[in-house]
Amino acid sequence: MWRVAAVRALRGGGAGAPRAASGAAAAQLRRRLESELEDIRGAGTWKSERVIASRQGPHLQLAGGGAGACGERRGGRLSVPSPGAMSLLLSVSAGIINFCANNYLGLSSHPEVIRAAVEALEKFGAGLSSVRFICGTQSIHKDLEDKIARFHQREDAILYASCFDANAGIFEALLTPEDAVLSDELNHASIIDGIRLCKANKYRYKHMDMQDLEAKLKEAQKHRLRLVATDGAFSMDGDIAPLREICQLAQKYDALVFIDECHATGFLGPNGRGTDELLGVMDKVTIINSTLGKALGGAAGGYTTGPKPLIDLLRQRSRPYLFSNSLPPAVVGCASKALDLLMESNAIAQSMAAKTQRFRSKMTAAGFTISGKDHPICPVMLGDARLASVMAEDMLNRGIYVIGFSYPVVPKGKARIRVQISAVHSDEDIDRCVEAFTEVGRKHGALP
Ligand code: PLP
Repeated sequence: MWRVAAVRALRGGGAGAPRAASGAAAAQLRRRLESELEDIRGAGTWKSERVIASRQGPHLQLAGGGAGACGERRGGRLSVPSPGAMSLLLSVSAGIINFCANNYLGLSSHPEVIRAAVEALEKFGAGLSSVRFICGTQSIHKDLEDKIARFHQREDAILYASCFDANAGIFEALLTPEDAVLSDELNHASIIDGIRLCKANKYRYKHMDMQDLEAKLKEAQKHRLRLVATDGAFSMDGDIAPLREICQLAQKYDALVFIDECHATGFLGPNGRGTDELLGVMDKVTIINSTLGKALGGAAGGYTTGPKPLIDLLRQRSRPYLFSNSLPPAVVGCASKALDLLMESNAIAQSMAAKTQRFRSKMTAAGFTISGKDHPICPVMLGDARLASVMAEDMLNRGIYVIGFSYPVVPKGKARIRVQISAVHSDEDIDRCVEAFTEVGRKHGALP
């Protein structure tokens, strides 16, 4: 006992120390959870989190001199940093170049966005302590909804705490057992979960395969209403849904089209409206869900925009909207200012597009294969999971923060390092990244 007390004292235990729940059920639960966690580690799919001590941006400082960046906490202790992690500690002091945030337009730390958040916080307070329909709608929520609808040239919009919530809330509210939903097999997890929650008939078509979609649409003719649901841009491959063809099929088989624009809003298309603008089908897509947590300031929040009666119905029926707190004013302030900046000019989006082009063409010239086309998500295809992992670690040793993805996040044999370009990367940042890839690729045999 004295040992336990001494250890607690050393760890600053006492009144605030965590208490383990007692009892056989709690002990059984703990054993089960620990074994499950061990399985995840054993499968090599453990996701560790680097702790950032600075704002989100193209250059980052990691917390705690880097220890938080590379040590994994086990039983309250940090594991010993690996040699790779040790060299990361050295690069931390100089900062690292960040290529793995969805901060496509660099607005997360834009001074005007931050100022707008502070002003909204001061004027409207920390939060509403309420859901929207009880006592939680402020003028800024209505203004932002109007602005989103205008930005997308739709009739109305409704805010959610996240796009995950928007996706979780729409299908159940809209579709009944008489209806059908047809979903791309690689749609985001939140679309998959949202569809699971609804009682409509479910069809899954092969990724971007128009023949398969047509076959499924034919099969679904027996239902009252058909909704085709797809990501506008897919986050693992940086590929863009063939919306023209999808909309043609939807017209032929009398279906509606829903797109998730999380990786498109703010920067795809001549005015950054998204995939529907890029592919010239703004008048053919019925419903758009998107996020405020990526290009539009990066704070948090999501929305649905589309026909007014649909938005009105969501306010009455959509459970994540009805039963979750209103978006905090500071978050609303960030997104609202981000939209103002984008509606004033498309210079930021153009700058991001130019940097994406620079990265893609230099990497291709260096001998790498980059998946997708013209999208700031640039997956560097490597095939082998171990190669992706060691190369990503070695990139970090050189001060470049990128993430390797392998099975089960992507299909077997399609491991890659995903690079995400932002408008606030400098040409030098991009060139340093390409140089580091070339060195590391040669060292590990990914390049001759
Ligand atoms: N849809 C897609 C395609 C996404 O990539 C994400 C986030 O990663 C979401 C939805 C969820 O967005 P949010 O972070 O606003 O919940």
